[in-house]
Amino acid sequence: MITLNEIGALRAWRSRWSGSVGFVPTMGYLHEGHLSLVRSAAARDEAVVASIFVNPSQFNDPSDLAAYPRDLDRDLALLSAAGCDLVFAPGAEAMYPEGFQTWVLPGPVAEPNEGAFRPGHFRGVATVVLKLLNLVQPDRAYFGQKDAQQVAVVRRMARDLNLPAEIVPCPTVREADGLAMSSRNTYLSPEERAAAPVLFRALLAGRAAWLAGEREASAIRAAVCAVLDTEPRAETEYVSVADPLSMAELETLPEAGEALLSLTVKVGPARLLDNLLLGQDAQSGIPAGG
Ligand code: AMP
Repeated sequence: MITLNEIGALRAWRSRWSGSVGFVPTMGYLHEGHLSLVRSAAARDEAVVASIFVNPSQFNDPSDLAAYPRDLDRDLALLSAAGCDLVFAPGAEAMYPEGFQTWVLPGPVAEPNEGAFRPGHFRGVATVVLKLLNLVQPDRAYFGQKDAQQVAVVRRMARDLNLPAEIVPCPTVREADGLAMSSRNTYLSPEERAAAPVLFRALLAGRAAWLAGEREASAIRAAVCAVLDTEPRAETEYVSVADPLSMAELETLPEAGEALLSLTVKVGPARLLDNLLLGQDAQSGIPAGG
């Protein structure tokens, strides 16, 4: 596996490589969720490129950026074992040099939910993803459905700006008790970690209501909140039932097609995100028998 920090070296590699490229952008501190994206890429593409870049412009809270966990040596060993061919790990000054001033401004898809609670977040995400796609020039880019609104924002950008890469969403990888894997799970104390699976249980309650024929979004949200309310350590930011492409909030769920049930809940110091697609279990990462 090759590790590169310089944009020029990445461009030189890309101009020499003629096979297909699968790209996995990450902020490092890798876990099985990230590695599942690398394996998906390795199964389809002739070379897998991963990036490790803690993107300052997508953090609206400077203390969140400062606290973000990092362990480059461990990440490189995990990526190599998962079948990654090249890691691009630039410094912030390479990605945002003196004078940087051009941004991608996503539209309404980026306004609710994460966009409302983290002003400017998706401007930073869209800008860094476009920059990385321009540098790596992949045939496919792999994103986790765990960050479902990010997938919607990136897909919309790819369409609107005629990006050649195919955007491939991949299922959420969970711990055995249902907690979606996240670099931020390391912030949890043992007591908070024990409380955190309430997110997945709440989503399953919403899904159970949907499976029982409920189509009113307010009733599905109420079923989710009833479970969240049983956990005193859980502080809910939002529970949303939305169209998964536009992120427009729904009043009534469609009989055919999908709805995205998503939530963000603070448990102790960690903002935890999770979601399920109602109408299609394949992307939801529900454990067998779950
Ligand atoms: P991050 O390092 O948090 O920016 O995540 C990098 C990529 O990994 C994003 O596409 C995430 O959606 C994806 N990812 C993070 N956690 C998971 C997970 N538990 N399952 C699947 N993909 C994930």
